[in-house]
Amino acid sequence: MARVLVTGGAGFIGSHFVRRLLACDDVDQVTVLDALTYAGNVENLGEAMLSPKLTFVPGNILDARLVGLLTREHTAVVHFAAESHVDRSFYEAGNFLSTNVLGTHTLLAAARGAGVLRFVHVSTDEVYGPLASGQADEDAPLRPTVPYAASKAASDLVALSFFQTFGVPVCVTRSSNNYGPRQHPEKIIPLFITRLLKGHQVTLHGQGQHLRNWLHVEDNCQGIERVLRDGVPGEVYNIGGGTDLTSSELTSRILALFGASWDRVRYIPDRASNDIRYAMDWSKIAALGYRPVHDLDQGLAQTADWYRHNPDRWAPLLRKETQHA
Ligand code: NAD
Repeated sequence: MARVLVTGGAGFIGSHFVRRLLACDDVDQVTVLDALTYAGNVENLGEAMLSPKLTFVPGNILDARLVGLLTREHTAVVHFAAESHVDRSFYEAGNFLSTNVLGTHTLLAAARGAGVLRFVHVSTDEVYGPLASGQADEDAPLRPTVPYAASKAASDLVALSFFQTFGVPVCVTRSSNNYGPRQHPEKIIPLFITRLLKGHQVTLHGQGQHLRNWLHVEDNCQGIERVLRDGVPGEVYNIGGGTDLTSSELTSRILALFGASWDRVRYIPDRASNDIRYAMDWSKIAALGYRPVHDLDQGLAQTADWYRHNPDRWAPLLRKETQHA
């Protein structure tokens, strides 16, 4: 895996993964391909941009000529680039289908032509849809309920079909909800942290009973690296093992970080569609040696500190987000 092409490396998870790869002695070259949408920022790569091993290419995964050239220069592809925000998928679903499904197809076709040795497609537990009880293993049916999750489920199936039909060595990872430094403040944890930092109220959907598994971004990156190195082509790997919390419980933890009380919370009507519970069995990737190591409260404190010390990174984004609300 000496030369790795990382799509979406200027986004939240991709920028953590790039740092991880650069620290690996057996990785000679990392190329980030990123269209720098509203969600991407080269500043997310920070000091990593100074590494002689890193090349940044601004560009779109839908550009077949560009991805054709890039894949030929790399031995492996790790594919993060996507439209990633559920709320946005309610009013611009077409962008999600275009980037997440057609973009993934463009990349897969290029990887096939180039004969890459590894292709890791990064996906989400949201493709399984809501579970009233039990846990989804990798063979569970895909029952996405929102356009974001549907576009990711479709891209997972296209990716796996490229293994079955053409032998492209694809693995799919499906992780639970990530948190950590440098996440766009449209997502719930940084949204709540930045609103509390500004002295504003936070808003909780419905009754605050939606259950999510909160995984530190570095734990997800550990899992993705495991799959890049040791995953079996054609296989899917769930990456879980974070902390299960309802949105009310998560809110309590964040309020506690700021010594704030529940009068800072305002309840708002629920999303048009909002899955009540996700849960995954991640024993398959545990067998590859994956072990999440981050404690939620420490991880939340570290995340809050990052936002406290980097207002220049999120304040302009928050202003744009407010226009959406
Ligand atoms: P993000 O929105 O922070 O970053 C996405 C990146 O992709 C941005 O840098 C953006 O500029 C880039 N991008 C978007 N469209 C592009 C295009 N057409 N061509 C090239 N680059 C493009 O997302 P994230 O939270 O870092 O998520 C990364 C991946 O992980 C996504 O595939 C997402 O579905 C998946 N995932 C995210 C989570 C989570 O909790 N954030 C959980 C599970 C899976």
